[in-house]
Amino acid sequence: MLIVMKATATPEQVDAVCKRIESLGLRPHPLPGAERTAIGITGNRGMVEQGGLAEMPGVQEVIRVTKPYKLVSRDLKEEGTVIRFAGTDATIGGKRLAVMAGPCSVESRDQIFAIAEIVAKGGAQFLRGGAYKPRTSPYAFQGLGEEALQLLAEVREAFGLRIVTEAIDNESLALVEQYADMIQIGARNMQNYSLLKRAGRSKLPVLLKRGMSATLEELLMAAEYVMSEGNYNVALVERGVRTFVDHTRNTLDLSIVPAVQKLSHLPILVDPSHGTGKRDKVLALARAAVAVGADGLMVEVHHQPDQALSDGAQSILPEQFAQLMDEAAAIAKVVGREVSRGIKVESAAGAAR
Ligand code: PEP
Ligand code: MN
Repeated sequence: MLIVMKATATPEQVDAVCKRIESLGLRPHPLPGAERTAIGITGNRGMVEQGGLAEMPGVQEVIRVTKPYKLVSRDLKEEGTVIRFAGTDATIGGKRLAVMAGPCSVESRDQIFAIAEIVAKGGAQFLRGGAYKPRTSPYAFQGLGEEALQLLAEVREAFGLRIVTEAIDNESLALVEQYADMIQIGARNMQNYSLLKRAGRSKLPVLLKRGMSATLEELLMAAEYVMSEGNYNVALVERGVRTFVDHTRNTLDLSIVPAVQKLSHLPILVDPSHGTGKRDKVLALARAAVAVGADGLMVEVHHQPDQALSDGAQSILPEQFAQLMDEAAAIAKVVGREVSRGIKVESAAGAAR
């Protein structure tokens, strides 16, 4: 069930409805929109007893939700979610595309600084690099862990870029929270429900990648896990799914972008790097992603991809990243969007969350 408040409802009236929901043993999730606030209700096992909610002051409508997901749904919030990063003009969602770029793994100070410079020059607002890597082989490079997080925090100071990095378990999530601006949950963990719930209790926004065989509904339900714990700042990423084809690493399912946008208010980005696995295909699919209406791009960039400790084959070169940004900007215009040309950090204090 969800409660739609009148456009004229006061904060006190919203509060009173939330309290009534709590008194019914349920959890209210007030999501303010441009026009009005809607309140999602979770914690019920079956039908929610109305408990006089429809008659409370400020309530416009009580709607029964028939879909399995509630908080991610556009029924709850008509306009798209825009995630903001305090003290900066960085956003995810809304008119401007969010571009996240960086190496698959943070490998050394020299490497991450060299790549951060390329990413910042290109105009991206987010640096994405892995400190904890979920690798297919236990013998493959697993990431530098906290040392990488420290380097990422230094990059943030030096370039202003907001930091996105993956947490692979509750322990690494607690560390990522200390150093980064956004927590990535990778494809392999999209259905790690205890990790999703833990991310839902974090103050940082969550970047949730689609599992390699996840349906649209499974992806939305994973986001619902995060939101159900009270964290409403979630962005989704299409990164390709497993199919029979072998000319690419995964099959980038661009049709999920408009499908998500129809059902959900959450932003959805596209990752053409994992989506293709091949450097020479990344730019083409990035162009297609912008054209299809994606809310942003995640791309792997490396200045020496042949020496990369992970995903070198799909990492684009510095000049390709510059080209990608120009092409994205040109296509964005056609679809009524724009591409960032750098990040503005308000003050030194603004650099701290
Ligand atoms: C990554 O982003 O580097 C990564 C491991 O991606 P995915 O979880 O999509 O495989
Ligand atoms: Mn990678």
